[in-house]
Amino acid sequence: MSSQQTLIIGGGISGIACANALRASGADIHIIDRGRVLGGRMASRRLRETGTAFDGHVVDYGASYFTASDPEFVSQVNEWIESGVVRAWTDGFHIAEGEEIIGVKSGPMRYAAPAGLRSIVEHMASGISAEQITQPYEVAGLSHDGTSFHADDFEASAVALCLPLPQAQRFAPPEMLTSIEHVWEPVIAVTAVFEERCWPEIDGVFVNDNPVITWIADDGARRGDGAPVLVAHVNPVLAAGHLDDPDSVTGLAIAAMSRVMGITELPSWASAHRWSLAKPMAGEPDLMWLHPELRLGMAGDAWAGSPKVESAWLSGRALGAALS
Ligand SMILES: Cc1cc2nc3c(=O)[nH]c(=O)nc-3n(C[C@H](O)[C@H](O)[C@H](O)COP(=O)(O)OP(=O)(O)OC[C@H]3O[C@@H](n4cnc5c(N)ncnc54)[C@H](O)[C@@H]3O)c2cc1C
Repeated sequence: MSSQQTLIIGGGISGIACANALRASGADIHIIDRGRVLGGRMASRRLRETGTAFDGHVVDYGASYFTASDPEFVSQVNEWIESGVVRAWTDGFHIAEGEEIIGVKSGPMRYAAPAGLRSIVEHMASGISAEQITQPYEVAGLSHDGTSFHADDFEASAVALCLPLPQAQRFAPPEMLTSIEHVWEPVIAVTAVFEERCWPEIDGVFVNDNPVITWIADDGARRGDGAPVLVAHVNPVLAAGHLDDPDSVTGLAIAAMSRVMGITELPSWASAHRWSLAKPMAGEPDLMWLHPELRLGMAGDAWAGSPKVESAWLSGRALGAALS
């Protein structure tokens, strides 16, 4: 790798938005991600060996959906819709108190992806060659010798840390370690596959005052293929106590989602995924952080306002433009 390249550590939506802004200015880029695939927390998987007829269905087990309010992000989302990568999902989710659904709350349009949210990041990265991406590779250390950065054996003239903030801060100058402190919530996402749809027409439910779950998504409705698949998010307090054994909350989560949805059947297959750093409780108002002399920056959903997909995109794009 050339010492003149800009190294982007993190291949989630912020990292790829950053890479694309740099590429637009003609910069040489290289992306490193510790995952086997791009996308980070916009995570989707194809069901396999579930013993049901729904192997092949893609499930979103990270971010559930996204919204768009910034005019430039709105315009980007419209392009994705025209390309068939994104679909407008719904503007109405149900609300439950405890175990009882009490109504529907309308809100902004929530967007989903027919091939799963990760496919959006893959689509964004379609102009980036395989040689420009190293994965799976977890960067262990970052140093600067006065001329160049060294991220393990990778050399670069500039570095973009497009990671959850606690992970980015490990690589940042000491003053950054103390100046910003965020509390990040964990989530355990439990996917349940049923033999057939056995619940009312509901896209998703915000579950309040429930000791086990905070959210249920109908993944078949989200995907648009109608598969009988639900994903529930375990509440952060319960999740925090089970991060070393996420499967141990699967039964509780299924029981809780079944009571809310009025389901009496058991799922045929279920799986739990742990997100130790799912979301920060709040975001920094700045679009991103940049050390202009050193040419070291940070971007991601801890920046650009509230923590969400849109903020990560805006933040990564702003950092890429600033490093161009
Ligand atoms: C369960 C859950 C539900 C959510 N629901 C929503 C929602 O409904 N709506 C919404 O807008 N947002 C939601 N979010 C948040 C949304 O997913 C994030 O805001 C967004 O995906 C963040 O993108 P990012 O690029 O900043 O970070 P990430 O997607 O986390 O990308 C960071 C990347 O860095 C890589 N990485 C980390 N450390 C290293 C290292 N040392 N070396 C190399 N690579 C490394 C990781 O593999 C990862 O790919 C949710 C998140 C979770 C987990």
